[in-house]
Formats: sequence, structure tokens, C-alpha cells
Amino acid sequence: MYHALGILALAAPLFSQPLGDIPPGKTFLIVQSHHDDHTWQWGFSGFAARLVDAGWRGYFVRTTNDEKDGGAGWGKNDQTNLRESREAIRALGLTDVISLNWRNDHMESVPVKEVRAQFILLLRKLRPDVVMTWDPWGHYDRNPDHRMVSRAMGEALWLAGQWNVHPEHRDLGLVPFRPGRVYYTFRSDYGKGHGYNVAIEFNDAQMRRKADAYWAHKNVFNTPDEAKRIREALAVRNLAIPELAGLSDEQAIERIRRWEIEFASRETARNLGVSFAEKFWMVNEFDGLPGLKDYLQKKAVKR
Ligand SMILES: [Zn+2]
Repeated sequence: MYHALGILALAAPLFSQPLGDIPPGKTFLIVQSHHDDHTWQWGFSGFAARLVDAGWRGYFVRTTNDEKDGGAGWGKNDQTNLRESREAIRALGLTDVISLNWRNDHMESVPVKEVRAQFILLLRKLRPDVVMTWDPWGHYDRNPDHRMVSRAMGEALWLAGQWNVHPEHRDLGLVPFRPGRVYYTFRSDYGKGHGYNVAIEFNDAQMRRKADAYWAHKNVFNTPDEAKRIREALAVRNLAIPELAGLSDEQAIERIRRWEIEFASRETARNLGVSFAEKFWMVNEFDGLPGLKDYLQKKAVKR
């Protein structure tokens, strides 16, 4: 357990962000997948409370029916979670919860344009100055409802401003609209793109075995022609690799392949004070407790 917590200390450096001001406006809309998405650690509820205190009106959209959240059975979960989300917005001072009631954890079976059409309608109807929602680039989120809402909302925020999109809305007296400011959030514990939070060291002997294993795949890596091309390309620039002098292309390609894999392992280890390393995005034993993970890391003491 302590080992796992210790590894977390190697987490990727956090970038500091400048403090932002409250933007101009009077209405905000929070669009998320589930009843509790806006109130947890990747949510917006502090920001929302601040806007309410500054005189704004706020609306919260829960896109699903939350039937899988809780131990009371699907129907009861839906009702209880909706009731509790109303209690939550009362605490924050928001005006209303709009529940779209798509089936929880089934959103990938819904056409994205259906969800997007609802979001476009809401944007045109409520005309929020500020929107808070899931980041469309948070597509590494393993929750299908989060992925669907992030994509559909990302598209809606752009398309809601176009006359040719859902022109039938004009019959309702609604005209195209694009909000001035959008704030995105994503589950950073799932990683975002190519992120790493831990490096694992290995020694010289292990490096040699890694290179042996790499070179074992001769069907794809034993390419003497490539050694020839590399040497010719260097020669054009008046360059040469001394260690390749006198080697045939067959011998040179093996040398190049072994360097190649060793070089990558050394580069990863640079600045870590070790010779060789590999890096990963690691989730640990506390991954099922996202809200508690940082808390445990700070609070756990040796016994
Ligand atoms: Zn959620």
C-alpha cells in the first residue's frame, strides 16, 4: 500500500494556471451526464455558487436517468438521484435541473445527433452566457455517458450558432446562438492524451534482454536496406557513425536496432538519475475511489 502511494509522488508535474475572472453575463448552463458530475472534484459547483452570488441564473442538465447509481434498483435510483440533484442545486442556488433521462450507461447506443439536437435546443432556448460541460478531448474517459455528452455538447456548442442547423427551431421562435464562454472539465485521473504519471527504472542486464527481445522480431526489424539508406543519407551530409564503419548492412542494422531501443530507454530516464526507464500512466489500488485518492495520499501515515 505504501509502495503504491509512494509511486504516486512521481506524478507528472502540475501546471499552474492563472486565476480567471468572472466573465460578463447573467445566465449559465451546466451540461453533464449524471446527477453528481457537477458537484464532485472535477465539477463546477464552486464556480456555480460564485456566479449565483454575483446575481447569475444557473441551470443544470443531467443527461441520463442515473438508474445505475445507487443500490435501490433502477427505478428507485432514478427518482432518488433526481430528487437529490434538486437538493444539490438548491444548496448552490441554481434555478432548475433539466433531466433528459437517457438510460444510464447506455448512451453509446443513442445516435449522437439525437443528444446533440437536444443540447442545441437548450442552448437556443436558455441562451447562456457561460456553459460548463465535459471536455470533448476527454475522450479517454471510460464512462460511456461522459464520452457521449462531451462529444454531443462539443458539437452542439458550434452548431447551435448556424442557421442551417435545425431550422425548425425558428417555428418555436428560437434563433441561432453561441455562448460567449465555455468551461470544460475532464476526469484527469484517466489521463488526457499522452500523459504519464510514473516511470519505472531497470538495470543494464535488463536493458540487454529488452534489446534482445526487440531484435528477436527480425521479420519486421531486420532491414539491411534501411541501414544502407541511413548511411547514404548521412554520407550526403558528410556525416558517418564511426561504430558502423566496416560493418555490412546486415551487421549495421542489428547495431542500429539495439541502439535505437536503448536510446529510447535512456531518454526516458534522463533527469531521473537512473540509466534506463519506461514511463506509463498508472492507476493504483485506489482508482475506484477517485475522490479519496488524493486525500489518502496526504493523510495516510506509517503505522
Ligand atoms: Zn458521471
